[in-house]
Amino acid sequence: MIELSHIHRRFQVGDQQVHALNDVNLSIAPGEYVSVMGPSGSGKSTLLHAIGLLDRPDSGTYLLNKRDVTALTDKEQAEIRSRTIGFVFQFFHLVPRLSAADNIALPLLLAGIPPHERQQRVARALDAVNLSDRAEHRPEQLSGGQRQRVAIARATIMQPALILADEPTGNLDRASGQDVIALLEKLNAQGLTLIIVTHDIEIGRRARRGVRMLDGRIDSDTRQSPSP
Ligand code: ADP
Ligand code: MG
Repeated sequence: MIELSHIHRRFQVGDQQVHALNDVNLSIAPGEYVSVMGPSGSGKSTLLHAIGLLDRPDSGTYLLNKRDVTALTDKEQAEIRSRTIGFVFQFFHLVPRLSAADNIALPLLLAGIPPHERQQRVARALDAVNLSDRAEHRPEQLSGGQRQRVAIARATIMQPALILADEPTGNLDRASGQDVIALLEKLNAQGLTLIIVTHDIEIGRRARRGVRMLDGRIDSDTRQSPSP
């Protein structure tokens, strides 16, 4: 599903150049469950942004479902992103003024799905993350774990094939973090490809495959037997 070849991404910070991705080669098959670990600044988020078409590499090729997406316009990329990829971030990125239901409905609204269908799909999504009774709450009225579950519902409402989660439990207590991981793993069990960036060794070990980044490179890439 994902084939990255010789991906480079450099950032200019003052008079210094940071090589955030330095010749990254990575293939991920449909349905895989991959964790990405590594020290802060090693390029994990940059990698996830490149995979998620939120950022363009400076060089290299990226095939997504066998299609070269590096050459596409921003608009074409946005369209693929909305149909194929769901994001979950450490700090949730919900719209503060909107209710849980309206946050989840946002991608459907942008895709022009009519109100009646929107309502039905949002109701189902709220149920799937166990938040039917919180539909009208705004983010500030929800706990961190509940906010992240809203974010997962929003990330999956367009039925993507790929979920990218950047430290999804980084801002949560242990119990809420486990709920969030369980939800993501359930999606993976349903066939979605799942990539989780995490600092948590225990969570990292749960994935069937563990990628370690160091200084913008893939330092190791190992098959893991998932712990129960
Ligand atoms: P990680 O997620 O592993 O902590 P990042 O991918 O966020 O690492 O960052 C990798 C390197 O690239 C870091 O040195 C970071 O400071 C730099 N970097 C990332 N994004 C930007 C940006 N938008 N502008 C400048 N430097 C950036
Ligand atoms: Mg990061």
